[in-house]
Amino acid sequence: MHALLAMLKHETNAFSPIKTDLSRFKQWTYLRNSEVTEKLNDTNSAIAGYLDLAKKHGFSVDTPIATEAMPSGPCDHETYWQLKEKIINQINRHDCLMLELHGAMVTESTLDAEGDLLQEIRQAHPDLPVAVSLDFHANISEELVNNATVICGYHSYPHTDIRETGLRAGHLLLDFMAGKIEPVISFGQIPLISHTLRQGTDDEPFKSIMTLCRQLEHSEHILDISFFGGFPHSDTPDVMPSVIVISDGHAELAEQVCDQIIQKAWQLRADFVYHHQPLSKALIKAVNQKNTVLLLDHADNCGSGGTQDVMTVIEAVLARNLKDVVMATVCDPSAVQLMQVAGIDQHITVELGGKHDMPALKRKGKPLTLNGRVKALTDGRWKIQGEMYNGLEINMGATAVFQTSNMTIIITSRHIEPWDKGIFIACGINPEQHKYILLKSRIHHRASFRTITEKEILLDGDGVTTSDYTKLPFKHRPENLYPFNQA
Ligand SMILES: [Zn+2]
Repeated sequence: MHALLAMLKHETNAFSPIKTDLSRFKQWTYLRNSEVTEKLNDTNSAIAGYLDLAKKHGFSVDTPIATEAMPSGPCDHETYWQLKEKIINQINRHDCLMLELHGAMVTESTLDAEGDLLQEIRQAHPDLPVAVSLDFHANISEELVNNATVICGYHSYPHTDIRETGLRAGHLLLDFMAGKIEPVISFGQIPLISHTLRQGTDDEPFKSIMTLCRQLEHSEHILDISFFGGFPHSDTPDVMPSVIVISDGHAELAEQVCDQIIQKAWQLRADFVYHHQPLSKALIKAVNQKNTVLLLDHADNCGSGGTQDVMTVIEAVLARNLKDVVMATVCDPSAVQLMQVAGIDQHITVELGGKHDMPALKRKGKPLTLNGRVKALTDGRWKIQGEMYNGLEINMGATAVFQTSNMTIIITSRHIEPWDKGIFIACGINPEQHKYILLKSRIHHRASFRTITEKEILLDGDGVTTSDYTKLPFKHRPENLYPFNQA
């Protein structure tokens, strides 16, 4: 048996001004051939799960490409075409295909890159067994479902089970190829828009929904169930939560189980909505805290396509004069350069952040003038020890630590969501020793920072990952989705 393994992942934010070209993929993960097994073998990735199965069952693999770009605007057509070709051109001579995709990738030429990719593969190889692992934030289309043999999504947000998802999908495919099962997929969408801040799987409504899915998975003839939160900022016709039920040859049963989950989600629809709270009000809560608190600047989260240089929340926290704040991270390569030239311990004035306009929000970039001291300079390289992306080597580019007033700010040259404590430790900061930990993150940080504190305060600033969907100029989402249709 000879399997083809490939990863092509991008979570597209249609409102992000950050371009997605080949260099964007090369900045985060871009591995070819033997590099794929060398670098991903022991990581929290679906590819690692597929490789685990190859070792266990003794089949050989080819790994032409494994690539992922940090979330940003629609991928340019040429880049998508090149990456797609690297997979499709390699399929001949393989007995099966195991893919690690995101599910919310949009390009200049298609609103549904994964559906487009699977459709093209299926047309050329009608009988090829194809396993697909997808992100929890996938926006699932009929094209994608109709052209895969099995599809499995993560069960968790933060995504701590990516490797297990690869194992689930790969395992089902192997059982199918051995003639042990006959996978039948049932698929349904829930006609609502889920606010990303309400999607943590430790919280409601997802806690109850995921519990129900795990219970129903024990039913006879049901092989696997995935519930997807969806990613509204992709702005496609499929930006809804959805469910995939895989049965062993029992289409009607799979439909029933699918309907049961859809009904449960619909009953809980009000819990999918995040209610905006003014920044000034949230900051009053922050002042009155005794122990360490996480402050979340969630509207500018680069892990969902944010520019990571919007200064609204940092400015407000400084103005409130909160004491002992450590902040991760502002992405501003020119500020880092300025600090490199100045050198460690030098006092400088910097126009920090605000380097990007955000036309979708009709907002110009607005830097913040800060005086302070260059505390440290690093090469921005470290390895993730926490659960999210465990084992992955990180390159934030040249990085500076800047002390201004009561705040220590990490400034990077590349986008990285601060979902792991390692980002502070790599810069010589122990976050546990500080009162306020200000993060440009939403949910993913929980996997690591919850060992320090569970106390979080959401700070509604500006940015293209805003949870105030009335600010976003949607063009392609269905009009009649809850809660929009409640107005
Ligand atoms: Zn995700």
